Amino acid sequence: MDFYPIAIEKLIEEFAKLPGIGYKTAQRLTLYVLNLPQEEVREFAEALIKARGTIKYCSTCGNFTDKDPCAICSNPSRDHDTICVIEQPKDIMSLERVREFNGVYHVLHGTISPMAGRGPEDIRIKELVRRMSGNIKEVIVATNPTIEGEATAMYISRVLKPLEVKVTRIASGMPVGGDLEYADEVTLSKALEGRKEI
Ligand SMILES: [Zn+2]
Repeated sequence: MDFYPIAIEKLIEEFAKLPGIGYKTAQRLTLYVLNLPQEEVREFAEALIKARGTIKYCSTCGNFTDKDPCAICSNPSRDHDTICVIEQPKDIMSLERVREFNGVYHVLHGTISPMAGRGPEDIRIKELVRRMSGNIKEVIVATNPTIEGEATAMYISRVLKPLEVKVTRIASGMPVGGDLEYADEVTLSKALEGRKEI
């Protein structure tokens, strides 16, 4: 397309690579950026580079962090014997918003999905099993209520049962096929409260 100078086309292309951003939105964002003061654009670009350059995964829970272990894993006032298993780092933000869970987390970075060719070895299940030494009281599986999320919960229960760990699943007050990210605080709090052993 020759509507725009190459630099503009390039920026639209980069925005369009972001999740949930179509070409039209990418175009709108690009025009917005072009109207910003130079200094603001520089700050934005630097924030991107800095975030990507300094943020890594916590070696314990898999959350994003700038120091290892992360702030939650290294917090002595949290209950380190209760682990909540979630799919993505963003789910931690959803659960922390509820303010009812005081345990620690384990991020799987995905789900088991035979359809997509993803097996247990492709997500952080080995790392979860490794955390089972010690006095783990309960593992709460809070994967999303989707087919993949349920299959993953079942698999985790099967793997942890022989280790005599109590495994629970958050209640199904959540809309099926829904996502933790979009659940409001009350729904999420009820789901957590009504969890059942699996
Ligand atoms: Zn951590």
